[in-house]
Amino acid sequence: MQNIKICDNIDINDQGHLTFAGYDTVDLANKYSTPLYLMDEDKIREKVRIYKNAMAKYLPEGSMPEFASKAFSCRAVYRIMAEEGIDVDVVSSGELYTAFSAGFPMENVFFHGNNKTDSDITFAMEKGVGFFVVDGAEELYAIQTEAENKGITQKILLRITPGIDPHTHKKISTGSEESKFGIPLRCGAALDMTKAALSMKNIHLCGFHCHVGSQIFECEPFINAAEIMFKFFADVKAALGYTPEIFNIGGGLGVRYTCADPVIDYDEKIKEIADKIYSEAQNYGINPPKIMMEPGRSLVADAGMTLYTVGTVKKLEGFANYVSVDGGMTDNPRYTLYESPYTVVVANKADKEKNFAATIAGRCCESGDLIQENAEITEPERGDILAVLTTGAYNYSMASNYNRVPRPPVVMLGKDKEYVAVKRESFEDLCALDV
Ligand SMILES: *Cc1c(COP(=O)(O)O)cnc(C)c1O
Repeated sequence: MQNIKICDNIDINDQGHLTFAGYDTVDLANKYSTPLYLMDEDKIREKVRIYKNAMAKYLPEGSMPEFASKAFSCRAVYRIMAEEGIDVDVVSSGELYTAFSAGFPMENVFFHGNNKTDSDITFAMEKGVGFFVVDGAEELYAIQTEAENKGITQKILLRITPGIDPHTHKKISTGSEESKFGIPLRCGAALDMTKAALSMKNIHLCGFHCHVGSQIFECEPFINAAEIMFKFFADVKAALGYTPEIFNIGGGLGVRYTCADPVIDYDEKIKEIADKIYSEAQNYGINPPKIMMEPGRSLVADAGMTLYTVGTVKKLEGFANYVSVDGGMTDNPRYTLYESPYTVVVANKADKEKNFAATIAGRCCESGDLIQENAEITEPERGDILAVLTTGAYNYSMASNYNRVPRPPVVMLGKDKEYVAVKRESFEDLCALDV
């Protein structure tokens, strides 16, 4: 029987119902209807504080996490991050606008992305964005031009692709060197761009950024990245006499989707990364810069859960047992995109034996619209509530209206409050832009 308590905000009550953040999920499904996204606000705050405290403890003064808001972007989450006093990343004008409209301080926003358009640059500057994380030459020149037009000095970081040595670090090296993101270290491109940025009148180069990947459980990729980046900082110092004020080492620490994933001690990982940063700084005689990290998934994934209602249960002899639900790839495209593992529970029968291998199918007209294959669950019947765990990251933010399925609401749960953070889309909303 698979363990469903993959996070401490999940339990089973006396009625045999699955609970989340202390709430009975069957009651919530009845109250708000399904499909339904739940978010555990206290868990988000807890994770933010773990990062914030560890970074304050182990890293140079001013070091701080930023929330990579593409993982879960809505006004409520920007308000939470503002209250917790951390910065956020955005990757589009839409995310930036959402943060702005939530009252998030624009000077604490980092604008990422491999192709910021001219209108993104203008819009973000008009709103007073703190930093652009520059991804290529054209963008650097476009930012200089726009900053000059506006008569301002724009703070930036340069995003560097570390291009990790393939002999020692196979898994990440290909991704890095071939990546569509960032400025490669190879052939001196990063050094040239640094020189260009430093020469620009309206640009203030604050430092460098790199992001090695996602769903990482070991410190090794960060440690490798730190080695490579400090070597680069030393080259920059030697060639240009410049030392970065900020080094952003990216996001990507993992979360548990199933009990096969390890329990991760974020404080310990951050300490390990911090030790490496200090030793590399010392090694190269570089004043340790302020460190930033950009967790997305690890701040919000296990703060989320999705509830569905079971429709048909089809047992195809010799094939799969299809359990169809009232949502699918429209609210969670991650299995369709990359066969992401999830833990699935029949919420109203959470204490019953799990002896049924189910393929959880969405309602869309696509054979690939699956939430999970071969999930071990209790045999369900029409009307049961099905919970998919750990859906707080890259679910709501990746949702679509394919087949004109309205997006579910997001209900935020806290110790003494429960509120709708995003309303359920209506059919009228679906047609709102149709002429
Ligand atoms: C996606 C992304 C992150 C966050 O990654 P997680 O795996 O969600 O922590 C951080 N930084 C950049 C640049 C990203 O693209």
